[in-house]
Amino acid sequence: MINDIITEYCWDLNAEKERLYKEREHKPRLWMSNLGGCIRKAYFDMDGAEKTHPFDKLLIRKFRAGSDEEDKTVAAFLHKWPNGVLREVPVGNEMWSGKIDILVAQNEDFPNGAIMENKGTSPYGMKKGMIPRLTHCYQVLAYQKFLNAGYEVPAYLYYRCWDFYAQFEITSATDENDDFFGFGYVEFVGDINGREESGGYTFNLDTELERMENFWGREPMDTPGYDSPFTESFACTKSSRKGKKWKQINCLYFGHCFPELAEKASEDRLLEVE
Ligand code: SF4
Repeated sequence: MINDIITEYCWDLNAEKERLYKEREHKPRLWMSNLGGCIRKAYFDMDGAEKTHPFDKLLIRKFRAGSDEEDKTVAAFLHKWPNGVLREVPVGNEMWSGKIDILVAQNEDFPNGAIMENKGTSPYGMKKGMIPRLTHCYQVLAYQKFLNAGYEVPAYLYYRCWDFYAQFEITSATDENDDFFGFGYVEFVGDINGREESGGYTFNLDTELERMENFWGREPMDTPGYDSPFTESFACTKSSRKGKKWKQINCLYFGHCFPELAEKASEDRLLEVE
């Protein structure tokens, strides 16, 4: 009973958000949150394609848990700097769009301000060191690039789940003397539950922006892109609580890419893996 009331509340909040979104005229956009992810999904978002598998109540509730964590971060910041925090700050150009979760003004802790992305995550992901994800790093670095503050505002990722947390500063680095990785890379430094953690990815934001920009203004994308949604793809499906033999459809556009499989799926979006 209690659970149903909360789930319905989250569902209604999301329905209202979707309604407002649909009322707006669709303008093709590339979303910074899609950087590092499936190019077809980025393309479908840009094109305003029909969502064959909209989020269900369970997922909406999970997303809400992430928003609740963000609310707590903002409340703590506003408590410390009553006039020094902005939320949902739009950044971009005629092609790219993004919204900075939290933008902190210059203060004693952040002398150059701070761009902050608050992510809800699972304890499993945190324990297994699956963070920071490259897509999240790209996202905050893109915010930094498009903010145009006149100076570089540091970019941070903050993950939270129960009493688990992780925090990282994300930077782009270039080593022009490095023949192999001379194009640059993404670095992170911070801690997971107080344990120092640093590292990087040998990928580069500008190359990733270009990869996606290649699809700007193209004709609708019809080909599946990958042979299988189980082995080669990004987030087409996810593991299911029912067991290893089962996968659950996890992408809004699954029906465009794998129509035959979409037809075979059960009502709760489960697919049996051969
Ligand atoms: S179903 Fe898979 S390939 Fe298709 S858009 Fe989604 S993530 Fe990309």
